[in-house]
Amino acid sequence: MALRNCARCGKLFTAVSSSMKLCIDCEREDQDQFNKVKEYLKEHAAATVIEITKATGVERKQIYEWVKTGRLDIASVVDLGLSCESCGKPIKSGRFCIECAARIESDARKVLADGKPKQGADTKKDRAGFHMADSIRRRRGY
Ligand SMILES: [Zn+2]
Ligand SMILES: [Zn+2]
Repeated sequence: MALRNCARCGKLFTAVSSSMKLCIDCEREDQDQFNKVKEYLKEHAAATVIEITKATGVERKQIYEWVKTGRLDIASVVDLGLSCESCGKPIKSGRFCIECAARIESDARKVLADGKPKQGADTKKDRAGFHMADSIRRRRGY
């Protein structure tokens, strides 16, 4: 047994085991919240963290903590609140959504395959400009 500060409220409490990080009051509250989230997930298997937070009142940070410590099954949480660094769409893991990851990869491949992507774009623009001048000329009856 050791005297310890509660990780949540800071209150001094007697820890009966080394894994005990919360005082009895907070431990009970933590268990309550955890059960609430578990119950919610049972009925809403496809819930996002935002939805869980709204429905149970449990902080997002707390849900992440449970996922991180393995208490909450990560597979049961559809969306951890991560977003794609490119388009901002919610994603499950990594830095980009599937679409952006594919686009970034194919862009990288294009640059590698075609050494002069800028020149190709210019040629296209010139051709479009030529067509425009051509149709104007035709409309004016030249
Ligand atoms: Zn406490
Ligand atoms: Zn994206």
